[in-house]
Amino acid sequence: MFRDTLKKMHTELHDEVNYTLDIHGIDHKMNDYIGKEIKIEWSGVVICQCGKKSDKFYRSGYCYKCFWESPLASQSIFKPELCTAHLGIEERDLKWEKDFQLAPHYVYLANSSGIKVGITRGTQGVIRWMDQGASQAILLAEVPNRRFSGDIEVSLKRFVSDVTNWRKMLSGTPESVDLVKMKQELSIHVPEELKQYILPDNTVTEIIYPVTQYPKKIKSVKLERTPIIEGVLLGIKGQYLLLDGDRVFNIRSHEGFIAAFSQKETLQQGLLF
Ligand SMILES: [Zn+2]
Repeated sequence: MFRDTLKKMHTELHDEVNYTLDIHGIDHKMNDYIGKEIKIEWSGVVICQCGKKSDKFYRSGYCYKCFWESPLASQSIFKPELCTAHLGIEERDLKWEKDFQLAPHYVYLANSSGIKVGITRGTQGVIRWMDQGASQAILLAEVPNRRFSGDIEVSLKRFVSDVTNWRKMLSGTPESVDLVKMKQELSIHVPEELKQYILPDNTVTEIIYPVTQYPKKIKSVKLERTPIIEGVLLGIKGQYLLLDGDRVFNIRSHEGFIAAFSQKETLQQGLLF
């Protein structure tokens, strides 16, 4: 059933990011569609990760029940500093929370629209950075659980943002920043007991996106308001498709939408709901 829904694009880091959209059993190599016309058509149905179908989500891509009961939508998902599984304290489902939280996490600095601090689980780092549209990134610390990464993030939030300004991110390539120097300066502010987790490696990852033209005055288009979105694909950055007419479409915020996706020359593909 999730075969027919929009999901975030798979990303691979090469000279530029390679994007693949998997829908209706077809892997669309999105980079090949740049300069061509694409079409996304919503069926009017969304499907929650629990399998429930509806005509709209309650909040954050979840049905009412999941938003209030699923560990995937708990408070600590949005605020890692509230994680308590390392103390054996349950939020919604201790077993799930232990599996998720008691694993190596990384704190990183990324430059997508100015410097931000973020956290990521296991080896997801580069994927996370590509999803956020970061142009440069560096790992700052490796910690044994999610809570510690949340604590470091909170301590650094006083100096740098913890969110991506997506409008700025989509308006062009940010000015290059000396992330090694930023890391050194910010490391001073990591809580004493967590300083042992700061990584000595200072490798900076540089990421280039397949964009031929950035929008001038960004118009965000959504399937709830416009069930059929079509136009020429001018580029891809983060999880956004950049379309003609200064339009941007966030694939990620449409995860779970049952939709048809097609490219003009192959309109027969993926048209069945
Ligand atoms: Zn649900």
